[in-house]
Amino acid sequence: MTYEYERIIAVQAVLKASRLCKEIRTSLSSEGSIEKQDKSPVTIADFGSQAVITHELMSEFKDPIMAEEDSSILRSSDGKEIKQKLLENVNCILPDLTENQILSSLDRGKYEGDQKGRYWALDPTDGTKGFLRGGQYAIALALIEDGEVVLGVLGCPNLPIDNSHSDAANGCVFIAVKGQGAHIRSLDDDVEKKIKVSDIDDPYFAEICESVESAHSSLNDSEKIRELLRIESPPIRMDSQCKYGVLARGEASIYLRIPTNARYMEKVWDHAAGWIVVNEAGGQVTDVLGNPLNFSVGRNLDRNKGIVATNNKLHSRVIEAVRKVLHKKEQILS
Ligand code: AMP
Ligand code: MG
Repeated sequence: MTYEYERIIAVQAVLKASRLCKEIRTSLSSEGSIEKQDKSPVTIADFGSQAVITHELMSEFKDPIMAEEDSSILRSSDGKEIKQKLLENVNCILPDLTENQILSSLDRGKYEGDQKGRYWALDPTDGTKGFLRGGQYAIALALIEDGEVVLGVLGCPNLPIDNSHSDAANGCVFIAVKGQGAHIRSLDDDVEKKIKVSDIDDPYFAEICESVESAHSSLNDSEKIRELLRIESPPIRMDSQCKYGVLARGEASIYLRIPTNARYMEKVWDHAAGWIVVNEAGGQVTDVLGNPLNFSVGRNLDRNKGIVATNNKLHSRVIEAVRKVLHKKEQILS
């Protein structure tokens, strides 16, 4: 299976959503975001991106979709203002979509996952806090078949295509298909370049990337891991799955996501696209104990704790250091 058609549609959908998010970001006002029940922020970019991508997928495929958002806030009285702005923004990209179609597209993302069959996993705006502060965010779409990620597209509208080139205006997209390697392209130009992870095998020269938010990853523990591995460089902190892209193109060699509490379960849509981009670039992604990620047990990665991703060469040494630092925190790992 080459997933040629799925790749074309997924890239087109992510490009449309990336351009929409970028446009919304330039004109974002305080009415453009609202708090969800769990107190996390959600913006018209999250809703707009999900409506556009689910609509595009539903026009081409019958597969179920597992996506982060739904329309409940927009249907409530608190969501009136944001709904109006959402409709205007989505109609700039898909002019014929009615309010009803936009809201019902948003509600097509409730799939719970299964061990068999295929489904799409979507984080319409991963790193909403990064989006709001003008930092990094990503539009992450993956196709999962019989529990295995086979295609991933990561739109990174604020990440320069090449780090020697500080012009973030381009933005970039990472694309990976099972057995076909990982590629990068800009938002505006369809020329693709193959990418691979770094070949660093001495941790001293490695760079760690991690979250900006200390609630999402224990930055204290990762500092201890950095010391144990005698890594010289300070960590690269950035929001969203852009971290997987930065690892896949060799700018960092380690991505750590260390659990901050025992209750939190990682979400499928926060890792599926990044997982295949890093794997196809030659890297490895596991949980903090070195176990493979299990994408077939629902909307959460219930069988895993945290994330360790590396260029492969460093993986066993990083897992060993992570285990040493976390060994006293059994309640977190149980
Ligand atoms: P990042 O931008 O890498 O910090 O990650 C953003 C993602 O963190 C969001 O999409 C959330 O789903 C996820 N998240 C929210 N709470 C937590 C938590 N306590 N631990 C780990 N990830 C979290
Ligand atoms: Mg997310």
